Amino acid sequence: MAAPVNAHSHAFQRDIRGRTQTRPTSRPGADFWSWRHEMYARALSYDPDGLYRASLACFGEMRAAGWGSVGEFHYLHRDPDGHRYDDPLVLSDAVIEAALAVHLPICLLYVAYATSDVDGAPLGPDQRRFRSDTLDEVVHAVETLRQRWAHDPRVSVGVAPHSVRAVPEAWWTPLAEAAEALDVPLHAHVSEQEREVERCVEVHGCRPVRFLADRGVLSPRFTAVHATHLSHREIGLLAEAGAHVCACPSTERDLGDGVLPARRLSAAGVPICLGSDSHTLLDPWEELRLPEYHLRLIERRRIVLGEDQDGVTRWAPAALRSATRAGGDALRTGAGRVDVGAPADLVSIDLSHPALRGWDRDHFAEIVAVAARGGVAEPLAL
Ligand SMILES: [Zn+2]
Repeated sequence: MAAPVNAHSHAFQRDIRGRTQTRPTSRPGADFWSWRHEMYARALSYDPDGLYRASLACFGEMRAAGWGSVGEFHYLHRDPDGHRYDDPLVLSDAVIEAALAVHLPICLLYVAYATSDVDGAPLGPDQRRFRSDTLDEVVHAVETLRQRWAHDPRVSVGVAPHSVRAVPEAWWTPLAEAAEALDVPLHAHVSEQEREVERCVEVHGCRPVRFLADRGVLSPRFTAVHATHLSHREIGLLAEAGAHVCACPSTERDLGDGVLPARRLSAAGVPICLGSDSHTLLDPWEELRLPEYHLRLIERRRIVLGEDQDGVTRWAPAALRSATRAGGDALRTGAGRVDVGAPADLVSIDLSHPALRGWDRDHFAEIVAVAARGGVAEPLAL
């Protein structure tokens, strides 16, 4: 079958897997914001070779798990002191080269990152490696990467304004226009945390999706990553624009973000793709079943998502589409489908695996959706 498309990744975050699962007992709780503090500390540690090796470990496991291509939301741009490297794109290249070393096609989503809050507050010291000084710097980086990697069909590039927290208000419309002019995907984190929504309302008088809609950001080339906290009106805006949503359910449960409103999004016709984001685990089968399972726990009923097929509601075919072609559409690579002209990123399913024993054609989609698991990487010489 077409290999699953991992539409949202931060490869280096695999390095903190299992290292953010404790908290000082004196602290009442841990959350996304305390996790982010720990993640920033790791982000300060890499030189270009170290980032290559961290990315290689992540992408090697990703490839073996069954993901066939990746959208890497890349925001490590500067050296550990916050200065530009002689080649300002050396870290982007390191990530791309790591993906290619394990034969994983990559869409490098080059991130614009310039503020620490919705009100335009300056970056904190631990965000110094992410900084883009100007809008032109971001657009120039995307253009340069495109030209630099134009010879390799496994590499594509996109524009990624990080979030309403990290991108100045005046940059959104030009970044959307640049993505349009270059005909590349446009991805942003949207409403992962309630605090982001509250700050957007305080500063701009509207919720994040409305803010983006009013600046011409929403379109079929736009993907809202996470989109955990959406109003009905925001879902309508995404649907009207033909935009995608990228759910990262294993990360969202790890970070306590919230649950994707997948039933309301699907009812509105918003395509949902999937990403493993922080790589707490790397398994496309786990990601594709979680949106359904999370809603079961909340709504205390079964077969929450899905579509009618001859009088039977089935959730697995739509989940498989989320894992495959929806990701290829969101990254605009054409991956995730078996079709003439589409990239031949395929994955095989071992029907003799004990987890699938007893499979039959009528229930195959459901059997793999609930029970399949990713493969295991060969040891990499790192
Ligand atoms: Zn992310």
